[in-house]
Amino acid sequence: MGFANRATDAVRLLLDLVTRDPPFVRGGGLDPHAIPVFTFHTLEPRSFERRMRYLRDTGYETLTMRQYLDSISGRAAAPPKSVLLTIDDGRATTWTVGYPILKRLGLRATAFLVTSAVHDSDEVSKTIDDASGTELSALIGRDDTNDRPFVSWGEVRAMRDVFDIESHTHLHARIAVSGTASSAVMTESMQRGYGAFDCPFQWLAPGGPPVRGGAVPLGSRLPESAPRLSGRPAWRAVDQRRETDSEMRAAIAFDLGEARRLIREKAHVEASTVCYPWHVFSPIAKEVAAETGHRGAFAGKSSKGPTISGPGSDPFEIARVGEDYVERLPGTGRKPLLTVFADKARR
Ligand SMILES: [Zn+2]
Repeated sequence: MGFANRATDAVRLLLDLVTRDPPFVRGGGLDPHAIPVFTFHTLEPRSFERRMRYLRDTGYETLTMRQYLDSISGRAAAPPKSVLLTIDDGRATTWTVGYPILKRLGLRATAFLVTSAVHDSDEVSKTIDDASGTELSALIGRDDTNDRPFVSWGEVRAMRDVFDIESHTHLHARIAVSGTASSAVMTESMQRGYGAFDCPFQWLAPGGPPVRGGAVPLGSRLPESAPRLSGRPAWRAVDQRRETDSEMRAAIAFDLGEARRLIREKAHVEASTVCYPWHVFSPIAKEVAAETGHRGAFAGKSSKGPTISGPGSDPFEIARVGEDYVERLPGTGRKPLLTVFADKARR
């Protein structure tokens, strides 16, 4: 990461700290009714294991999704000192790094899968606990390679004793929202893996489906875009019009319904929640999430409403906080805030 990016990151972290983070991050205690939900993406073995050991050694309980939902709906109280761990995107390290560490320590987490990205095979890769040398570094760096940057359905089935399998939508889609090209240009890194999520879906052929990634020619200027669930209508370049409200609803219903259907068919479990891609949602997205059978939906840090969710909070707008703050939870060995920032800047 360049210096400018790191500096922007640090400024954002500081602003959020003052305006949007829950009190425990700033050194306060934990409201017994509010349950912190932590967000992870790519898992780095050393920092992930250190954070998980902190939770275990300080007596935190990592909830199942059912326990969490029962608690925020007021149906059954969660034990004191409970947290929910959520890992987004179904990147390869969810299995290669996350699974062995959580299993060894007896902890639970939730995996939010992008079902169109899950590798359609029974293949179960080695994990960091049964590899060494170059094999080990390949497993740790897998999220950033073209080889297989996401988990396979075989791995998803194998991780169910540790993970609740939940939805991060089928497509993790961005959509073109105007005919105006933005400064973005289609690059190789946007043709596959996580990079493809940043390439907006576009209608390139009359009557054809919207496409992205490898289907968009390299070097093309990309249209202005927004997350599919943002509530902004997609711009259909071929017919030179915006999609209608009912077309938008149908597209979102497909994206949410298809993920649940595939999780049922391939992993043999029922997904009861969805995590909004880029943490962006709209009233329509919330309504469609309820209509497609979800019991709740996860966002990011809340800009309004509570910064941490608990009983009585809106279950379709559950607030989450970044993984950097796991060691800010009250307990022996709590990490000073400055050390958290210093670690973040070093990465
Ligand atoms: Zn995501």
